[in-house]
Amino acid sequence: MTSSLTFLGTGNFLAPPGRYWNSFLVETEALSVLVEPSPTALPNLRRAGGSAADLDVVMISHFHPDHTFGWPFLLLELAESQRSEPLVVAGPPGVEAFLSEMMQLGSLTGIEDEARHHPGLAFVEADPSSTGQSAGPLAFSAVRVEHVPELSCFGYLLELGGHALGYTGDVHPCPGLDELAGRADTLVVECAAMHASRSHMDVASLRSLAERFPSCRMVATHLGGEVEAAMLPGVEVPDDFSRIELA
Ligand SMILES: [Zn+2]
Ligand SMILES: [Zn+2]
Repeated sequence: MTSSLTFLGTGNFLAPPGRYWNSFLVETEALSVLVEPSPTALPNLRRAGGSAADLDVVMISHFHPDHTFGWPFLLLELAESQRSEPLVVAGPPGVEAFLSEMMQLGSLTGIEDEARHHPGLAFVEADPSSTGQSAGPLAFSAVRVEHVPELSCFGYLLELGGHALGYTGDVHPCPGLDELAGRADTLVVECAAMHASRSHMDVASLRSLAERFPSCRMVATHLGGEVEAAMLPGVEVPDDFSRIELA
């Protein structure tokens, strides 16, 4: 099975010039997964030739707004689409209530009601104690990672026909990060900071990770404005709308 990644945004919380907020599309012949409904996910999904109606699964690593505040716009397009299969959303425990509260704050509960009626919504909570979970047609595992103490944060391993695609979410060096790098064939890893940070990866910690896990293909995203490809030997650094083929 061939699969690909299309980056809809590669920037960190600050959306540095030239990079919109981190979000990417995972596509195989069988399914389409949006990882992180960032604020610019919908317009950039359209620009990449897709639409919310084409998505089978949306995955959320944690509840910070750069990863989630595009949800209302995706939901409106979904509710108005001809799609017949429910959209499955996977995220931290409480993901259904969190997204519902977002719609209430925006006075958009009618859109949520519409989408629940057609095409339908289903929610899967990340469970790191499980050896394998499914979100509709997608098989995945959740790994708990450390980012900020006030939020439950997860990385994921997506099973794509024999290829294990890892995604760290926002993270700083921790056992969960090493587990993801050890199990993934390809790892999409954040690198938000130029210099050491308590809540994010930085250039030195990503270089160290790449050196310790040489058989894992590393792809950086959620990039800070000062982070450049030349600082990260052995790590791929995509731009917005870059497409990467997975083996
Ligand atoms: Zn972030
Ligand atoms: Zn975050």
